[in-house]
Amino acid sequence: QALLYIVATPIGNLSDMVPRAVEVLQCADLVAAEDTRHSQRLFSHFAIDTPLIAYHDHSDEKRTEQILQRLESGQTVALISDAGTPLISDPGYRLVREARRRGIRVVPIPGPCALIAALSAAGLPSDRFSFEGFLPAKPVARQKALHTLASESRTMVFYEAPHRVVETLETMVAVFGGDREAVIARELTKAFETFHSAPLSELAAWVGDDSNQQRGEIVLLVRGAERRRGDEEVDAEAERVMKLLLGELP
Ligand code: SAM
Repeated sequence: QALLYIVATPIGNLSDMVPRAVEVLQCADLVAAEDTRHSQRLFSHFAIDTPLIAYHDHSDEKRTEQILQRLESGQTVALISDAGTPLISDPGYRLVREARRRGIRVVPIPGPCALIAALSAAGLPSDRFSFEGFLPAKPVARQKALHTLASESRTMVFYEAPHRVVETLETMVAVFGGDREAVIARELTKAFETFHSAPLSELAAWVGDDSNQQRGEIVLLVRGAERRRGDEEVDAEAERVMKLLLGELP
C-alpha cells in the first residue's frame, strides 16, 4: 500500500532523532528532502542509504507528480526538511494535500519542532497560542502584519532570521508597546541555547546591544494582549443574543 511518511528530524542536536524516524527513513523506497546535500549528513550519521530526491518550495508540479507516481506504484516515500517538522514553515503542503486527495495514506512521524520546543520552555501561557511563522521581509508589510495581531490575546510565536531580529523587536515595541512580555529562544538544542525573557523594550535593547544574540536560529514569543475589562460581559451578551436568535430559527 502506498505510504507517505512525514518525518521530523533534529533542529540541532542529532540525539533528538527519534528511533522510528531512523527506521522509516531506512526502510522507505525514496526520501524527498528539501536539500539533499544537507540531509546527506543526517543520513551518514545514522547509516541510512535510501535514495534522496529534492523536494522544495520551488519544486514544480512535475516533481510533485513524479513523487505521487512513485507512491501510486506502491512505493513508500518519506518527506523530510532541513530541520524539524516538515510543513511547519517548510515545504510539503502541496504534496500532502495532493496525496490525500488521491487516497494515499499519509503518516506523521512526530519529533523536533522549534516552535513547540520554544513554547514548552519559554514560560509564557501555552494552553492556546498562535503560530505566525515568518513575518513578511519588507518593513511596511511586517508592520502591517504586526498591527493585525495587536489585540491577539493568545501567546504569539514567530520564526525570525538573525539579521532581522533587532528591527522586528523594535517594530514590535512600536506596535505592541514596550511593556508586553516577550521571549527570545535561540539556538535550541545546540551548544549556545539561550532563553531570555523581558518586556519588549528591554528585550529589544538587550538583543540590540549584543551581536551574539543576533546570530543563529531564533524563535520570538510575545505574550498575548490583556483582554480588556468588560470583554467577558460583551461575550456573555453576544452569547445570550445568539441563543435568542437560534431559538427563532424554524
Ligand atoms: N520546520 C522547522 C521546525 O519544525 O521548527 C522550521 C523550519 S524554518 C525554515 C527555520 C526557522 O525555524 C529558523 O529560522 C528559526 O526561526 C526556527 N528554528 C529552527 N531551528 C531552530 C533552533 N534550533 N533554535 C531556534 N529556532 C530554530
